[in-house]
Amino acid sequence: PAAAPLAAPAADPAPPPAPSQAAASPLSGDPDRIPITAAWRFRRGRGQPSGEQPKAVQGLEKLGVSTVGDLLRHYPFRHVDWTTTVPVRNIADGMDCAVAGVVKSAGSMGRKNSRAVIAGDDGAEMEAVWFNHPWIYTRLKRGTRVTLAGKVREWRGGLGMANPEVDIEGAKPSERRTGRLLPVYSANREMPEKRLSAMIAEALDRFAGAVPEPLPDDLRERRRLLPIANALRGIHFPDGFPHRTVASRSIAFADMLAVQIGVLRRRAARVASSAAPPLDGEDARRAVGAFTARLPFALTRAQEEALAGIMAGVGRRQPMERLLQGDVGSGKTVVALAAMLACVASGRQAVLMAPTEVLAEQHYRTICDLLSRGNGDGWRALGAVQLPYVPEGKAEIALLTGSSGAAERRRARNVIRSGEPCIAVGTHALIQRGIEFGAPGLAVVDEQHRFGVMQRAALRRAVSGGDGADPHLLVMTATPIPRSLALTVFGDLDLSTLDEMPPGRTPPTTRWLEPGDRGQAFEHVRREVAEGRQAFVICPLIEESEAISSRAATEECERLRATEFAGFADRVGLLHGRMPGREKDAAMRAFADGETAVLVSTAVVEVGIDVPNATVMVIEGADRFGLAQLHQFRGRVGRGEHPSACYLLADDPGELAAKRLGLVERNNDGFALAQADLELRGHGELFGVRQSGPSPVRFVSLLDGKLIAETRDEAERILREDPYLDRPEHAALRVLAARAESGIVAEAH
Ligand code: ADP
Ligand code: MG
Repeated sequence: PAAAPLAAPAADPAPPPAPSQAAASPLSGDPDRIPITAAWRFRRGRGQPSGEQPKAVQGLEKLGVSTVGDLLRHYPFRHVDWTTTVPVRNIADGMDCAVAGVVKSAGSMGRKNSRAVIAGDDGAEMEAVWFNHPWIYTRLKRGTRVTLAGKVREWRGGLGMANPEVDIEGAKPSERRTGRLLPVYSANREMPEKRLSAMIAEALDRFAGAVPEPLPDDLRERRRLLPIANALRGIHFPDGFPHRTVASRSIAFADMLAVQIGVLRRRAARVASSAAPPLDGEDARRAVGAFTARLPFALTRAQEEALAGIMAGVGRRQPMERLLQGDVGSGKTVVALAAMLACVASGRQAVLMAPTEVLAEQHYRTICDLLSRGNGDGWRALGAVQLPYVPEGKAEIALLTGSSGAAERRRARNVIRSGEPCIAVGTHALIQRGIEFGAPGLAVVDEQHRFGVMQRAALRRAVSGGDGADPHLLVMTATPIPRSLALTVFGDLDLSTLDEMPPGRTPPTTRWLEPGDRGQAFEHVRREVAEGRQAFVICPLIEESEAISSRAATEECERLRATEFAGFADRVGLLHGRMPGREKDAAMRAFADGETAVLVSTAVVEVGIDVPNATVMVIEGADRFGLAQLHQFRGRVGRGEHPSACYLLADDPGELAAKRLGLVERNNDGFALAQADLELRGHGELFGVRQSGPSPVRFVSLLDGKLIAETRDEAERILREDPYLDRPEHAALRVLAARAESGIVAEAH
């Protein structure tokens, strides 16, 4: 009932115009509209041909800075505490500190370097050396008062500093590096850190006062937050750590509040729309019932509940947006398939989208298999499957991927356009231009690692149909989503969780082997193959490049055929991303049919592959994969009745990698693993927030439950009082909310 007054206006406020359209007076008004090139002149000499991009601007662009607003939001990633100086007498090897004193002597050292001896206020002396700075000593006249800061090292039997920061008495405040918390920025060669820092200091002086105030005064006072100009100053150049803390909280609060408002308004807009076809009529329910009754197993309680939730969702005229989350192997596909059948039985079209071709093809086979149970044909019959569950007894199952042939593509496209009930399975090829759904009902997205409001909106647009219907949407993921995230990025989604595994599963035993013991893994593979089982060998991800990884996998496959698996070399298969689609398909099929005993693969095998007879998983270069990915790989085994094992091989993992491999070894539950990883790496790492808009939500930890709850409360209150954010004190917030809504994307690594 509270939702009604929240309804969003039809059109959201337009994003600010591009910098080129900025107002006549380029250096006043909202800093987001001031191009950085207008505020600074970067041209070094007159001789520079016009139109050439000066290096500094390129450097800023690489950092994502093109307006003054971007510069103000280029927050430091930490601060170095050089507020107080240490007596020279007390310095020790390895200390990071500042010392004050006078120059006793200074000079060059070789052609490229400078050196100086500083006498501390306590009388003790210290040497400083600057490598590759032949000129510094010229500024260090004898008797000049200086502060040096940096790391103390042993040097020629004494203690000294190499390349310390130097502040000479009387330096401009904006150039001072010591005597305060010094911000540390990400920078690059074209825009080095010191120059960037000085620019930001200047930008704060000139422009911070013009930044529109995002938080209304009363809210700010109630929550004890700073006005934006002060908050920006405190995040860059704080008066001390307490100032920095309240400053970053203030900015995080505003950013998160904007996200919450965006999410709430979206949800309200969805509730207000009613263009979706209800998919839970008599026929639909009968089809679902018949389907589940014919399955070779009973649904788990969790699957039953999830299915009930989905059926309720697709039964409404408001388009459903639901997340179905469940650990690897929890049985999401069957649940989604039941919902797709309900759709088909209601005379509408269902779409299932997978991230890879291999996975799309597997889904296609699974669906054809499950739906043709008792019909004999199996998936080889291709195309139309007899469906005893649907009224006309027949529905097309179409497959469409990037490597579908022209004829296949035409056939799929025609079916989809015709509006005949069908299940269309495929990759992104399904929603490319030129494919039009005649009568969409339900879109299912499997194993999505990137979720964002924009992605969902794009998908909805792509699938929404010729007849103006808005499809229901079901997103499936094995990535555990913390509750706090569920309230934010996913705040407008309904949630179903499969928190239970199908019975009879024994989770794989995981072992992390020392390099010397790697033979044990292959020994185990040989034993299992002799017993008629199958195995995977995953080759490491190399430089994030599928091309290089594919080559490495090919070599590893040859090696294994010649050595470890010479006894059954002809049953060792290869799968990598550079194989043509048909070969990939053949390789997968050979493994699924049991002809191939060991499949050597790159990471392409990662998601969703289901071969219950596979019992051993060997992961080479395990330290190069993310935890979630390792857990996904491991989920490829232990899907049948036989005991299974997963071996993690890593030649020389770093300390953190070693800890994380230990976690995978000890934890079999994806959620527990994610939680442990979170504690190991600190918050904010599990889910990064990538921004594609101009207003980064960078200081927000999406796992900061308190902040999220507080901003949710405030967002609800504000929208209750001012649903369209028309009041002047909400003007800035309204712009931020529109941006946040489109820009925020959570990505699991
Ligand atoms: P995921 O959630 O990882 O996508 P799948 O949907 O691929 O899992 O299911 C994993 C395996 O479990 C499949 O072989 C599927 O047929 C089987 N399965 C699903 N539900 C059940 C159940 N209730 N009882 C037994 N096996 C099931
Ligand atoms: Mg799956």
